[in-house]
Amino acid sequence: MRAGQTDDGYFAFGWPPGAEPSGRWQTVGYSHEAYALGHYLEAAIAYREATGTTELYDSAVRGVDLMARDLLDTGRTYVGGHPELEQALTRLWGFTGDERYLRLAGWLIEQRGQSGDSGMQDHLPVRETRTIEGHAVCAAYLYNGTTEYVGATGDPGLREAVLAIWDDLATHKLYVHGGGGNTSSGCEGYLREPDVLPPGDAYCESCAVFGTFQWAHNLFHLTGDASYLDVAERMLYNAFYASLALTGDSFFYKNVVQAFELYVRAAWHYCPCCPPNITKLLAKIGGFLYAVGADEVFVKHYGASEATLPLGDGVIVTQETDYPWDGAIALRVDPSVPETFTLHLRVPHWTRSASLAVNGSPVDGDARDGWISVRRTWQPGDALELVLPMPVERVKLPERFTHYRDRAALQRGPIVYCLEQKDTPAPIIAVCLPPDARLTDRFAPDLLGGVTVLEGSLPQATWIPNTWDSAVPATFVPYGVWSNRGPDFMSIWLPEGVAA
Ligand SMILES: [Zn+2]
Repeated sequence: MRAGQTDDGYFAFGWPPGAEPSGRWQTVGYSHEAYALGHYLEAAIAYREATGTTELYDSAVRGVDLMARDLLDTGRTYVGGHPELEQALTRLWGFTGDERYLRLAGWLIEQRGQSGDSGMQDHLPVRETRTIEGHAVCAAYLYNGTTEYVGATGDPGLREAVLAIWDDLATHKLYVHGGGGNTSSGCEGYLREPDVLPPGDAYCESCAVFGTFQWAHNLFHLTGDASYLDVAERMLYNAFYASLALTGDSFFYKNVVQAFELYVRAAWHYCPCCPPNITKLLAKIGGFLYAVGADEVFVKHYGASEATLPLGDGVIVTQETDYPWDGAIALRVDPSVPETFTLHLRVPHWTRSASLAVNGSPVDGDARDGWISVRRTWQPGDALELVLPMPVERVKLPERFTHYRDRAALQRGPIVYCLEQKDTPAPIIAVCLPPDARLTDRFAPDLLGGVTVLEGSLPQATWIPNTWDSAVPATFVPYGVWSNRGPDFMSIWLPEGVAA
């Protein structure tokens, strides 16, 4: 990478058709000039933090210094074809304290809205935007970058915009597995119309899932609202988990919710954006489990782990759990010296009744605004037992989602399930999930790395020729591990009724 950098700091990362090869900072749709520079800068900051070496960091900073010199206060305009650099610059400001980088991030955000093209998120100025549309990956990065910028500056107009845009996404435009973007949009993106999510139209690019996951976390950091983390958890355990094969060597570009043609993960893609975003999230995942305030700790996600948190003289938090297969979580809190702070435990939105004990004594298990909070002087070795029961739940979408009025899906805890053809003798489009369907859960240690499956005997639709009247056995596997036993047909959503 450094060998390709010019003496004055410019990277020629490759130009799309229509660009002037010798030009710099051209507004060209689908240009990845600023996108690649942003990822490079984030990698360089992380690499410097991890290793203490500065060659990569110095090279990336020379690149953005050049951009600041060429664009800031010059009267020029520039819309990067693919947002990303905004969040990287805000992080560089956090790392260096140099206000110029934050100013460049803000300048890039304010440049949006010149061409009217939602395919590159240039259809409206961000501060005038209230709904999400257009390219889903560009949207995730632009609005995450804006959210981080709002966190740094407090800009009220941009804050109002990102909160409204997220609301539109979470209420009207997300598929049940946490992915977003419709194939019919023509730009890997969101439709303008709300509540239009046909199962056969899911695009849900892996990069968009990653970008939106980090956006959800930054909205939580901005507001303290646990509902953003509920969506993040849905993404993490479903659409994101499915994007990578269990063998770790192939990936989905799109994360469909049904496959009625054979659809497999690829080892490579002509647009190879997803593998590095997938590995980036896997490498960073531990950093998403906790948030620490002045005298409070938020447990955002559950999973067997140990973390050292920067509170007081240091607090080690250990989680022992089989989550997401089991909702029992044993937490141990080990401050290096007794420390008074509030521990907030997230109670996911799917939880019907949570219970909590501290050192064996039950405490109020009622969640308020998505959290159970315990304030006390924590002693080394303090132990908490949190139990989040995970019954099998039948999922229905609100009536306004017209494509789902006669369909249902299955969920247990944070896991969304699907039916693969190899797990039932009837065609999967004929297997029904009526309201009285009874499914039982079973942990299968030898299946797909060890997962909980849902099993039942289900009726078949009589409108399918050559199907039988009798019920058929069906075993549902977590969506996140589908297509790991060879290519197969799959569906998350099944018809509810037997007859048409
Ligand atoms: Zn991608």
